[in-house]
Amino acid sequence: MPDIVLIGGGVIGLSIAFELATRGASVRVLDQGPLGQESSWAGAGMITPGDPAGAKSPDTRLRAESFVLWPDWAARLREESGIDTGFARCGGIEFSPDRSASEIAAVAAKFQSEGVRAELIGARELRELEPNLNPELGDAVHLPDYCQVRNPRLLKALLAACTARGAELSPGSPVIGFERSGSRVTSIRTPAETISAGQFVVCSGAWSQSVLAQVGCTIPVVPVRGQIVLLEALPLPTRRILEVGSRYIVPRADGRLLIGSTEEHVGFEKRNTAEAVAELIHFGSELVPSLKAARFERCWSGLRPGSPNGRPYLGRVPNTDNLFVAAGHFRAGLMLSPITAVLLRQMLLRETPSLVLDELLQPR
Ligand SMILES: Cc1cc2nc3c(=O)[nH]c(=O)nc-3n(C[C@H](O)[C@H](O)[C@H](O)COP(=O)(O)OP(=O)(O)OC[C@H]3O[C@@H](n4cnc5c(N)ncnc54)[C@H](O)[C@@H]3O)c2cc1C
Repeated sequence: MPDIVLIGGGVIGLSIAFELATRGASVRVLDQGPLGQESSWAGAGMITPGDPAGAKSPDTRLRAESFVLWPDWAARLREESGIDTGFARCGGIEFSPDRSASEIAAVAAKFQSEGVRAELIGARELRELEPNLNPELGDAVHLPDYCQVRNPRLLKALLAACTARGAELSPGSPVIGFERSGSRVTSIRTPAETISAGQFVVCSGAWSQSVLAQVGCTIPVVPVRGQIVLLEALPLPTRRILEVGSRYIVPRADGRLLIGSTEEHVGFEKRNTAEAVAELIHFGSELVPSLKAARFERCWSGLRPGSPNGRPYLGRVPNTDNLFVAAGHFRAGLMLSPITAVLLRQMLLRETPSLVLDELLQPR
């Protein structure tokens, strides 16, 4: 019998499993489909910089704590799996959606007040940093510490590292029921078996609400579809992540560029639409005109686990002793995966928490 069963094998479940397995816990990860192929695969892998000493709100604190864990997390995964996650400090440039100078100055000031290196730049500095961008983009914020990870590689590294550490991985195992004795969950059911364990974690991404409903817990996590377009342009016209509101371009070192992403409330319907693909390509080539000639490689979509304020639910499920949740990471689950793994490890192994969470992060 495993000590801990994780329900969901996306970046959140696999990161928690890896963290627990390195501490000697016996863990099993169940996924209804293949492991690591949902939102965590579909994402863009942007990791926004943060500074724990300067963070002012629970979500910037969480982001900052995760940001400082990333270099060591990526190094540990490379060591344990032999796979390079592509974690890199590529830098980023943020623009105001309406090209408003005051708005972008406020963005720079906010980052600076949180201890993040952020420089307000004009057209001349922008041209020096990134000569291939549209010259009419207006002022921008240069964020030299912006990082990225190649999330499909991150997932491969997590799967290999979990296996090397003895975690049991079970794809094709949907959890369809819980058995309880008072406030304890004793086992969970899949169509093929009943699995007992000491503790359980619901980390089922956009599906977490329906999984938790089986034990009478309500968390308002809903699927929010995001579409992405992948282009190839060699040589790369930009080396930095470019962000304009909720749209962005993420250049990969091998000459590919991701253009994302939409936010659509369409239930569990995972597909691309002609309108969104056209809009994303238009957005990309407005920002970097030479992308009009780039090679279209493919497009895809993923279902983010959306929560009302974009913050994840991390904690014990009310009225249970041994059922936990780590879900609702919305647009930041890749970025927040190391800190989520550390916090869940501390909860599950009853260690002193390194971060006291705001009550907003708790499930109701
Ligand atoms: C287009 C797009 C761009 C993004 N860009 C970024 C970014 O740049 N940076 C960032 O930090 N984040 C980004 N995200 C968000 C990030 O991908 C998510 O927050 C993160 O992947 C959530 O991880 P997860 O493990 O909770 O969910 P998922 O990866 O969806 O994994 C949940 C797993 O649970 C399984 N499951 C569901 N129900 C059951 C069940 N009953 N039994 C067993 N298994 C079950 C599913 O099959 C799935 O594999 C992006 C997302 C999208 C879609």
